[in-house]
Amino acid sequence: MNIVNSKSLVKYNTFKVNVTADFFTNIQNEEELLVLLNDKKFHHQEKLILGGGSNILFTKNISGLVIHNNIRGIKIQKETNNSMFLEIGAGESWDKLVQWTTEKGLYGLENLSLIPGYVGAAPIQNIGAYGVELKDIFEKLTAINIKNRKTYIFNKSDCLFGYRNSIFKNELKNQFIITKIQIKLSKKQALNLSYKGLMSQIEKFHISKLTSQDIRKIIIKIRNSKLPNPEFIGNAGSFFKNPIINKNSLNQLQKKYPEIPFFKSDKNIKIPAGWLIEKLNWKGYQNDTCGVYKKHSLVLVNYGNSTGKDIMMLARKIKKDVHKNFNILLEEEVSIL
Ligand code: NAP
Repeated sequence: MNIVNSKSLVKYNTFKVNVTADFFTNIQNEEELLVLLNDKKFHHQEKLILGGGSNILFTKNISGLVIHNNIRGIKIQKETNNSMFLEIGAGESWDKLVQWTTEKGLYGLENLSLIPGYVGAAPIQNIGAYGVELKDIFEKLTAINIKNRKTYIFNKSDCLFGYRNSIFKNELKNQFIITKIQIKLSKKQALNLSYKGLMSQIEKFHISKLTSQDIRKIIIKIRNSKLPNPEFIGNAGSFFKNPIINKNSLNQLQKKYPEIPFFKSDKNIKIPAGWLIEKLNWKGYQNDTCGVYKKHSLVLVNYGNSTGKDIMMLARKIKKDVHKNFNILLEEEVSIL
């Protein structure tokens, strides 16, 4: 295992922000990871686990050890008449996994096509898109505790999944390294077409004949039409979560903005953060180095030489403006370090 000093992380975060890590290493399997964690030289160093770096904003150099998770592999664990159980290494590319499953005619991941990042990051924030969340197909995960170096299994209920949230963003933040996950997919057609943006694209198809591969193609087309490709423009997808408010707050907002869009779920009401930001004319805003993407107001972009601090300052200005005008405090979906 090669440990590099003073390594630039520019290639390891989709915002393309250039910071350095004191120490950096790639791990290929659980054995290597255990050797590393048992190495006394690193016991007292801060440790940061990096997957695809697609949901992170670095605002300073990272002191300590950055561990890039490269544990690969997609294995069929079990099969029944209706379902397929897969075990996937945390260092696999999420979208490669979605592609693999749709090519095999499996259902469950197609709405989550083209989400950047690695498999190991998916449970941390319970990734979601077009009405599907990781928790819908999740079975369990394996993780190593950084302090005691023991291996633990977390079932779905242990992970406390919520809206873009899990126990790994809260009580267990930075305590575990996820090494593999297990999911259960359907072998029979099982589509989630609840989102209008998706439904409007499939009107010309016979729903009974649609495959997961068809939906994947449609989702890729929609996403490519409004989201920037991080290979060309640094970004980390949605920067903010959609705020959840109560009925009273909605009533107040509707007095001033009768057209405000909202989605009801259980007792709560979700407001699209993108609408709030767009309403305040931030969409397409650009300063010297960074801005708000012209086709999607929830995506902050690095136009070339932005520092993490520049992007954080822009995010703060947007939050302040939204708070002043709508009395809603936006929360970041991206982890800021
Ligand atoms: P959109 O279709 O323009 O809708 C705007 C927002 O309204 C979405 O964020 C979505 O919330 C919500 N929404 C739309 N239809 C809904 C429904 N039927 N029920 C409940 N909520 C509904 O959204 P978009 O920005 O192009 O994104 C489409 C999907 O891709 C969304 O699910 C979004 O979360 C996901 N996405 C995620 C990222 C990321 O970085 N995490 C980036 C881009 C898009 P939800 O976000 O809660 O689904």
